[in-house]
Amino acid sequence: MISNFTEIGIPEHIAKAMDEMGWEEPTPIQIQSIPLGLEKIDMFAQAQTGTGKTGAYGTIILGTIESGKKTPSAIVLVPTRELATQVSGELSKLSKYSGHVSVPIYGGASIEGQLKKLKAGCDIVAGTPGRVRDMITRGALNLSEITTLVLDEADRMLDMGFKDDIEFILKAMPKQRHTLLFSATMQENVKQLAFDYMINPKEISVSQEEVILDLTKQYYISVGRRNKSWALCRILDIDEPKAIIFCQTKKMVDVLAERLSEFDYRVVAIHGDMPQSKREKVINDFKEGRTDVLIATDVAARGLDIDDISYVINYDMPDDIDTYIHRIGRTGRAGHEGTAVSFVTSEEEHLIKEFQMRIGIDIEKRCVPEAEPGQKDTIKRVIDYDQISDPFGMCKFEVNLGKNDGFGRVSLSDFISRNTRIRDISIGKIEIGDESSVVEVHKDYGNRMTMDLTKAKFKSKKIRVRVIQD
Ligand code: AMP
Repeated sequence: MISNFTEIGIPEHIAKAMDEMGWEEPTPIQIQSIPLGLEKIDMFAQAQTGTGKTGAYGTIILGTIESGKKTPSAIVLVPTRELATQVSGELSKLSKYSGHVSVPIYGGASIEGQLKKLKAGCDIVAGTPGRVRDMITRGALNLSEITTLVLDEADRMLDMGFKDDIEFILKAMPKQRHTLLFSATMQENVKQLAFDYMINPKEISVSQEEVILDLTKQYYISVGRRNKSWALCRILDIDEPKAIIFCQTKKMVDVLAERLSEFDYRVVAIHGDMPQSKREKVINDFKEGRTDVLIATDVAARGLDIDDISYVINYDMPDDIDTYIHRIGRTGRAGHEGTAVSFVTSEEEHLIKEFQMRIGIDIEKRCVPEAEPGQKDTIKRVIDYDQISDPFGMCKFEVNLGKNDGFGRVSLSDFISRNTRIRDISIGKIEIGDESSVVEVHKDYGNRMTMDLTKAKFKSKKIRVRVIQD
């Protein structure tokens, strides 16, 4: 419905392009920002990926600058290479009828192609601060005619250490200009940036509930480190999702990708150490369904725009709420339903509680989905002593020795020490029963209890040990 867009002042040629892109109505951030932006009012907007912010500032740029001038009139600074190509791509689609030319500029790819495009002339540059600065220094990018500047994901750019580059770039463009700043968070350094470089900016924010699209179900599973791959395979086997899996480190991304490939899952990994060409291929394979599961670090997955992801799995919990929101914003997009699952170790339960409070949405605790009858687990579940230990690191074991065998606390502790090389300092409370006893042992020695003690004999009695997991 073109009129849904023209109603809020979006020029007809952009509304037509939006209609062809399958958009039906403007999103809340678009409704709030476009009318102001078209009046050339500076703007400081809190909005995350998934809200339609690119469409918002894209419309403002296209509705306020001329096309065909050769020297760029607008520049969008973004934190990552993927986002640069994505923003440039979305701008090109939106300018189908206006003819504005957008060029992405980013590091990690050959500079020649980008130099050529700049030389040919463009209206809008979408680039990462490092490469944009490089282009200015080489004399390949002239910002003297910039009338509109967008700082997209400003918080990330600052977190990634781009402050100097941003300041350098701002000095290369006219002070008199229209400036728009988009950020997922309103942390102090972002506010300072707005204060330093904008004129009476109007503040806009889209509430977090609107970001975590209603179409995303969120839940968490309590699982220890050692059993995460077991739980993950259950989910992959049962729900067969198109999923992005987030790990905290590049190493973990590689290790998990290798492990899953061994079991014939169609997985690919993406992280910052991979060359740009490889990353693009990986993203394309995933987008086009040649792979089902993308394993990624946060940086690598930023700004990825793929519509039909059914699951986001936090294999490792993110440290902060913003990262959590960014991650789960990858699913439940463009009218598709999505599920976000977080694997939470016992030490991380407080984090998920905090996220729940901050977002104001219930994050339900669930069990690992049950395997179908007769279906075998791809990866076996192991005993995770970290997960079952108490806050002092102690785990409980039932041993089939007790009063009837003549044991008391001291003699049973001695017996265990002798047969397992567990020092008595690592043995905790012992409750002696008639037939059996419950012994607390430090989690580091769980395996010795189940492996070594069961090899020992008392008189001719075979010793059995059971881990108590409650
Ligand atoms: P963004 O927040 O810019 O990353 O956009 C998230 C996704 O929503 C992108 O795939 C956009 O193409 C899409 N999008 C933006 N605006 C709309 C809209 N009004 N209707 C439907 N989809 C939209």
